[in-house]
Amino acid sequence: MNSTETESILKKAIQFHGHQCPGLAIGIQVSKAVLQELGKPARDEEMVAIVENNSCGLDAIQLLTGCTFGKGNLIFNDFGKYVYTFMNRENQKALRISVNKDVIKMDKEHLELFAKIKENTASPEEQEKFKQLHINKSKEILKIPPEDLMVIKKIDFSPPPMARLHDSVDCAVCGESVMETKIRLLNSEPHCIPCFEKEIRS
Ligand SMILES: [Zn+2]
Ligand SMILES: [Zn+2]
Repeated sequence: MNSTETESILKKAIQFHGHQCPGLAIGIQVSKAVLQELGKPARDEEMVAIVENNSCGLDAIQLLTGCTFGKGNLIFNDFGKYVYTFMNRENQKALRISVNKDVIKMDKEHLELFAKIKENTASPEEQEKFKQLHINKSKEILKIPPEDLMVIKKIDFSPPPMARLHDSVDCAVCGESVMETKIRLLNSEPHCIPCFEKEIRS
């Protein structure tokens, strides 16, 4: 992929995500590797992603690989790991990508500013400085050769489950319809999760 293509991808990703950050750059790099190894972005459910974190990079992954939360071909395992598994049903290829976090460590100044941003104690100048450092880091990550940034392993294909359509049931308390698999029974009546939790707490 040449630099003009990378620029246009980056622009789209920033538009979708809202800002330029290191996480977004990781997501772009992961997506590029996936499309190179597994084929074109998923229009339907031909490709499935299993992701182990829900940070910034996921927005680039959804945008660029077509594996999206809404379509159900994005499965989120909340493991807090920078690991992404992709499978293509059409060519039966699968890939596991593990991002090498050591390569993308922020320096001391960047980390200290990040802490201040999170605590809401950064001055306007510090906020500006942080934004610039974040953008610089993002650009730096985009230039790292894929083989240095991540461990990409071809793995055996095992078909992931298709996103299923479920029937709906009305909640006995609020009357709103709920996917049947999410119903909680209380006194043998169907409850949605928020109503169920309110009832058992009261
Ligand atoms: Zn971000
Ligand atoms: Zn309810």
